[in-house]
Amino acid sequence: MADFCSVCNEIMFGDKVVPDYDLTTILSDLQPGQVYHLLCEGCGMIYYGKDYQGQPIVLFVKDGKPEPDFVPFSKELIIEKFNEAVNE
Ligand SMILES: [Zn+2]
Repeated sequence: MADFCSVCNEIMFGDKVVPDYDLTTILSDLQPGQVYHLLCEGCGMIYYGKDYQGQPIVLFVKDGKPEPDFVPFSKELIIEKFNEAVNE
């Protein structure tokens, strides 16, 4: 069974299917400086969490290699990764 984050889940299934990883819920459960590791079948392996100011951040891992650093989280970034994965 494939697992999807809430952004990819919405692309795949609209709002009819409850996402395996609800990014909003995950974020609200985290303390500043904490990150959550998840494997989404859409956008891939990501580390998602809060920086020390409490802002949402994300780090993508591609082919086992993490990107150099965390970047501010945005839905558009996830969509970009989803589209990259689909086009491979
Ligand atoms: Zn995803």
